[in-house]
Amino acid sequence: MPHTTKYIFVTGGVASSLGKGIISSSLAKLLQARGYSVTIQKLDPYLNVDPGTLNPYEHGECYVTEDGAETDLDLGHYERFLNRHTTQANNVTTGRIYQSVINKERKGDYLGKTVQIIPHITDEIKHRIKLLGTKHKFDIVITEIGGTVGDIESLPYVESVRQLRYELGTENSLVIHLTLVPFLAAAGELKTKPTQHSVKTLLENGVQPDVLVLRTEKKLGDDIRRKVGLFCNVDKDSVIESIDVLSIYEVPILMRKEKLDQTVLRKLNMPLGNEPVMDDWVAFLKRLKNPEKEVEIALVGKYTALPDAYKSIVESFIHAGVVNHCKVRLKWVNSDKIYADNVAQQLEGMKGILVAPGFGSRGFDGKVLTVQYAREHNMPFLGICLGMQCSVIEFSRNVLGLSGANSTEMDRQTPYPVIDLMEDQKNVTEKGGTMRLGAYPCRLNKGSIACKTYKVKEISERHRHRYELNNHYTEQLAAKGMVVTGVNPDTGLAEIIEIPSHRWFVGVQFHPEYKSTVENPHPLFVDFVRATLEVD
Ligand code: GLN
Repeated sequence: MPHTTKYIFVTGGVASSLGKGIISSSLAKLLQARGYSVTIQKLDPYLNVDPGTLNPYEHGECYVTEDGAETDLDLGHYERFLNRHTTQANNVTTGRIYQSVINKERKGDYLGKTVQIIPHITDEIKHRIKLLGTKHKFDIVITEIGGTVGDIESLPYVESVRQLRYELGTENSLVIHLTLVPFLAAAGELKTKPTQHSVKTLLENGVQPDVLVLRTEKKLGDDIRRKVGLFCNVDKDSVIESIDVLSIYEVPILMRKEKLDQTVLRKLNMPLGNEPVMDDWVAFLKRLKNPEKEVEIALVGKYTALPDAYKSIVESFIHAGVVNHCKVRLKWVNSDKIYADNVAQQLEGMKGILVAPGFGSRGFDGKVLTVQYAREHNMPFLGICLGMQCSVIEFSRNVLGLSGANSTEMDRQTPYPVIDLMEDQKNVTEKGGTMRLGAYPCRLNKGSIACKTYKVKEISERHRHRYELNNHYTEQLAAKGMVVTGVNPDTGLAEIIEIPSHRWFVGVQFHPEYKSTVENPHPLFVDFVRATLEVD
């Protein structure tokens, strides 16, 4: 029998930020636990080809996959929940759709036809959705449509969903619509009208949702479920409550209680499979909710006004905290506001310091001052990407005495370019998708912190950078105590630096945060948190 993939579409109404990504991830987790192979795809209705060129304040962090795709941060949730890699195919933007349609038009592929949103753009969208089923052979593909129904930008996606439902048939596809049921304190009531309106908007576009997930701060009574069901043509037991919870990791368990997975499988005419065994997940939650201790770590970066800008780092600390039976409290420190005369005051009392990745010179000096503070106070330190580069610059200036040492990213004329543009970046002029991206191997030095924590000799980690440690300085650095403990075996590029005489000082050129999941908390974060617990 040919393999049939079932498609689930997740749309959102009433407001943005209701947590479509978390609902999709939670449903996928339950279906996975029942024995199905599931993946999640995000369709983003903006014109950037990918979010790589976006300021993190626009849509939060840019997440990077194994194959080097710069993607929406929801893919990070998918990986953290499912413990499975995603790829470029899991994130499609309107920009990417238009780019390929226009490229085809220029090649003459449309044979003289007028190129239009319908059918050409919608065909391209449908092709990208189906690809995950036909090429990658998943049992179930969950496609999350970014934005809110009714937005002009979302229209071609909703139309594609309408067409796909018609083509695939109702037993092979399903629409879940996530909305908000606000509680009006003055009236003391939950209000369903916004949901009714947003379902009407979907209906105007020819799409009838099969399942409604209602985000709410108060429990939904039976009457509300019945009312919403009646006015939206949805069975009462397909009206699912999604009540506010403290941690996103509780949502799969809530959805299991609400039987979202069973409803979906029944509607798709699929066997229920095994009862989802979620013992490890529940054990993780139990530890998360009952920490035995607390530790405060400074997260130093320039995008501290928006926690989503460092989403994967925040989640990695949650995972690592659970392993260490502790709650990691993060103190967000804006590196743009760190000066020589206030650095001590801002970092005092911390048990560890993380200097975040970044680009450009704003907030850079504050990061270098931070590294100096961590090094001189023997405070556990983890520097990621630009954070690692700052640690090399600080050490060169203050220990090697190379005054003015810098990255050529910040100062092209520096007398000591200890961080320099990678050779293969020198002729790059376009900004989009041209960094060193995705997974590369790294060989670890025996006896290093890295080798002890990863417990293997070779690792693979994800990257997103243009600059690197200038190997011309590695010997000088080592002579004074900063050692390269991980290198790319093919190119010799320095991937990890450590200061062995320090309590715990690690800088990594790669991004460990992209690979931490609930099932596999990242060893470097786990050991970093462990080290912070030893600070009195
Ligand atoms: N701006 C630095 C580089 O391009 C660091 C990048 C980062 O932190 N992701 O090398």
